[in-house]
Amino acid sequence: MAQTTESTVLERTGITTDLLDRLTARIETVGDRSEIEVRTPVADEGIASVPACDPADVAAAVERARPAQAAWANRPIEERAAVLERFGDLVGEYREELLDVVQLETGKARHHALEEVLDVPLTCSYYAENGPAVLGDEERSGAVPLAADATVTYDPVGVVGVISPWNYPLTLAMTDAIPALLAGNAVVCKPDERTPLIALALADLLEKAGLPEGVFGIVTGEGATAGPALIDEVDYVAFTGGTETGRAVAERAGRNLIDCSLELGGKNPMLVLEDADVETAARGAVKGAFTNAGQLCLAPERIYVDERRYDEFLDAFVGATRSLSVGLAFEYGPDVGSLIDGDHLEQVREHVEDAVDDGAALLSGGRARPDVGPFCYEPTILTDVDPDSRVACEETFGPVVSVVPVADVDEAVERANDTSYGLNASVWTQDRDRGRAVARRIDCGTVCVNDPYTVGWAAVDAPMGGFGDSGLGRRHGPEGLRRYVDARTIATSRIGPLDAPPGIDPGWFARIMSGLTTVRRRLTRWVP
Ligand code: NDP
Repeated sequence: MAQTTESTVLERTGITTDLLDRLTARIETVGDRSEIEVRTPVADEGIASVPACDPADVAAAVERARPAQAAWANRPIEERAAVLERFGDLVGEYREELLDVVQLETGKARHHALEEVLDVPLTCSYYAENGPAVLGDEERSGAVPLAADATVTYDPVGVVGVISPWNYPLTLAMTDAIPALLAGNAVVCKPDERTPLIALALADLLEKAGLPEGVFGIVTGEGATAGPALIDEVDYVAFTGGTETGRAVAERAGRNLIDCSLELGGKNPMLVLEDADVETAARGAVKGAFTNAGQLCLAPERIYVDERRYDEFLDAFVGATRSLSVGLAFEYGPDVGSLIDGDHLEQVREHVEDAVDDGAALLSGGRARPDVGPFCYEPTILTDVDPDSRVACEETFGPVVSVVPVADVDEAVERANDTSYGLNASVWTQDRDRGRAVARRIDCGTVCVNDPYTVGWAAVDAPMGGFGDSGLGRRHGPEGLRRYVDARTIATSRIGPLDAPPGIDPGWFARIMSGLTTVRRRLTRWVP
């Protein structure tokens, strides 16, 4: 059984080793497995360990989920919605404990962890309130007016695999699981090996909320082993992570002929137009670029500023960034927390150093802060970045952003679209209609006007996802629910087989059918 280890950091939180032992005991394996240590980036020390599940463990988890799913799907959708509402309430009630676990596993600042905790009840309420109508039977036009009708029913696909990353381990384990559960599916979640504890804490709360045993399972372990095994067992896979892993997931899902949604990386642009309120835009840039130390798929990493406002924007942005505090406290205070681990710190450091070697100017940050925490890095602003450098083209996924002057809105749009990614963008202008018009020209799944990302993400009723290398499919909104159901069409004829009745002249029948088809097309055109 997985065991927690001695940790000095735990003492600074409300989390006990007993709690961690209880959480890790939830993971079932069919034999003895090697252990993966869960380390806290707050001090780079072990806080717990979880089993490295192998394919047999994954298969067993899905096997346990199947009968539980059948019983869950038979419950009225209103009952399922009530369980999810209760779960949302419990996430609020256990807020402090959940914040501690998120901070322990990720090292992020407490107010950034809070965004995760607040997000889950919002998603629960949205789907609990709107899901039943989205999944109700639908009458559609029949094949022949008056003679036939068609009804569409929606059934859960079965067991959904959720593969989630480390950067928003609470939100991203749940945001895809909630609609899947509401639709009557079971879920088996494979969290990132660095952040399994928060997923286990959520499984605990789901059970407290009344979710029957087996409907939400967790498998832990390395992505390269447990991930493909999960895709081989489930009926749908909802994946969030890097683009290259996403391609591997899509290939495997394709071979298994199951559907998938892929929420992948980005290189998100922010466009500051000449009529923007520069102070507001600078505030937005700080929030966008440095929330969760920039480890946010929606974070702007490229800022294009109309040259007429460039100096003014830079002054405001650099001034606000230099005043940010970097810190690791299990309370509200520090503005920016830690990166996830040493490998990631190295990637961020390399991006910045390469850019500077290629001639970029460093206006703020550009240093690791081992005095604050082993993987802390200062919020960093670069200008004069070579457009071919890694920091300009690849996702940095850290607190690093480059600012580039542009001649006008056309150049801003052209540069914004000059990438294979298309996840999130923002447009800053005092004319919201103009902002919406510019938004239509940007090749991204979400474009926010006068906000870096929250206004898009928190619009739970609206779909969210990526163009191009940023992914496939959509989460949130009705689209985020319908991906988890199989549509069945039940079509009825009132006149028996839709074919020439016995004894009818085929030529006469052909004329009648052509006439009816024309009437139908016209009716479809006239009747909205
Ligand atoms: P990865 O793609 O490496 O990991 C994501 C998840 O996939 C982890 O649980 C990982 O497990 C698992 N995994 C690894 N290999 C496989 C495999 N072969 N088959 C199935 N699953 C596998 O992503 P990162 O850790 O790099 O996460 C950051 C990335 O996620 C960034 O690129 C970011 O932009 C993206 N992201 C996208 C979001 C969106 O909504 N679009 C939101 C947040 C992040 P393990 O790590 O345990 O090995």
